[in-house]
Amino acid sequence: MQTVETSHKKLDNKLIQKKNLVGLSEKEFYDSILELKIPEKKASMRAKQLWSWVYCHGKKDFSEMSNIDKVFRSDLKNHFSLERLKIEKKEKSSDGTIKYLFSLNDNSKIETVFIPEKKRSTLCISSQVGCTLNCSFCHTGTQKLVRNLSAEEIVGQLIAVYDDLEHWEKRKKISDGLSNYQIITNIVFMGMGEPLLNYSEVKKAVMILMNEKGLDFSRRRITLSTAGVVPMIKKAHDELGCMIAISLHATEDKTRNILVPLNKKWPIDALIKTLKDDLKLRNSERITFEYVMLKDINDTEFDAKRLVKIIQGLPSKINLIPFNQWIGSGYERSSQKKIQAFSEIIKKAGFPSPVRSPRGEDIMAACGQLKSTTLKKRLNNA
Ligand code: SF4
Repeated sequence: MQTVETSHKKLDNKLIQKKNLVGLSEKEFYDSILELKIPEKKASMRAKQLWSWVYCHGKKDFSEMSNIDKVFRSDLKNHFSLERLKIEKKEKSSDGTIKYLFSLNDNSKIETVFIPEKKRSTLCISSQVGCTLNCSFCHTGTQKLVRNLSAEEIVGQLIAVYDDLEHWEKRKKISDGLSNYQIITNIVFMGMGEPLLNYSEVKKAVMILMNEKGLDFSRRRITLSTAGVVPMIKKAHDELGCMIAISLHATEDKTRNILVPLNKKWPIDALIKTLKDDLKLRNSERITFEYVMLKDINDTEFDAKRLVKIIQGLPSKINLIPFNQWIGSGYERSSQKKIQAFSEIIKKAGFPSPVRSPRGEDIMAACGQLKSTTLKKRLNNA
């Protein structure tokens, strides 16, 4: 039975819990400063200074914020924290890919993957803990959805990776002011979860990521990847302006119903119709289609030709993804020859169709695998 004393302790702990500023919006910074009962004009200036220390300099300690007076810094310290997501596990592949397993305050686990390439580097972030959509080839789909991520937890993934990769220090070395150096050039919402089913938090996070006075990612460098939540695609495109990617993976409903069960609700026709009719694509903007290559499932010449027909008239790019195999999936990767032949047909029709080189295979970089392995180990050790 719980004693009165322990419940008081719990209450005290709750009372002294500090608000974490990392991952909050500009308006929330301002509102938080106002809570300290300082005049509005001063609050606005302080909020701007604080914002810059958090999102441009990555400071973890209020005492290092040199343009803020000592008394106010100690006020900030008493009321707020600059907490990071906890890295529970980190694995680095021989190709430079780094996979992070983060542990959240409620002990939920999420994955984030850093993928360096020659001319760019991408951070693949999660929008939910687990996923309800159960795509049959996806490891995350085998885990139960626990909950949506908050905007703070979404932005927090980037901040924690920036810390780990020493982004802030490297940036400062290049120029003592705010150089344009970015250790991460692109952000894709292709980790765990369906971003359009957690739209309000994803929207808030994207606005913070795009804020020019802070993290400053241009809309062209952020991609929202959806399995096809049709009613939300236009809204996300209109409101955020960032790039849209569609996890297509099949060219007819029968196969797509199995690979992406959400297709039963919004079939291919409805999906393509909204892309063609409802989105006002800007010049040079195109839709990216993600297409995982599965042996004898969706990789025939006929599929490639049907795909070309479907996307006709829509500025598109088709990313072909060799399947990252995992035990128990029941699927195999298409042969290199098949993938190349598929790509050639699409290219001949005038659409770019790059074949994504498999990344991080030695660290199981397919989404959801690190979380599952860690859980399994824990269960075995229990
Ligand atoms: S592919 Fe994406 S939408 Fe489908 S189950 Fe996996 S995380 Fe969810």
